[in-house]
Amino acid sequence: MTLLDSAEAARELLERAGLEPTLNRIMVVSAVAAGHGPVTAGEVLAEVLREHKLNRVTVYRILDLLAEKGAINRISSGERAQHYCVGRAHSHFHCTGCGRIQCIANEAIRFDESAVADSLGLLVSHVDLVLEGLCRDCARAAGA
Ligand SMILES: [Zn+2]
Ligand SMILES: [Zn+2]
Repeated sequence: MTLLDSAEAARELLERAGLEPTLNRIMVVSAVAAGHGPVTAGEVLAEVLREHKLNRVTVYRILDLLAEKGAINRISSGERAQHYCVGRAHSHFHCTGCGRIQCIANEAIRFDESAVADSLGLLVSHVDLVLEGLCRDCARAAGA
């Protein structure tokens, strides 16, 4: 989704979430964004360690904080490791074949808010769905 191309963008994202943009937080947000899609905490750690010295517990703690404040998205899917990504309201696809998780723009999913409002009386302000199935590669491999 929205990729952060600079430390400045990371700083803005943190400030929007009401977090002080410390250097460590900027590094972690940038590492999540560098994944170009959902990444695990381990992948974020590896990315941070490429250029900085930061211990694992600190990185994990910052990830938790960022997710709690809504600066980044946390995607939990079954028994898989939690994944993190950046970008405003969007959904995710979890492949049950290879376990890969990818970001899906809500525009790609036909979700009828007015139908939900009419039939259930619910006013939807945010959509964040987890879709499951087979990704293109796995579907092809399965001959589907
Ligand atoms: Zn797959
Ligand atoms: Zn995402």
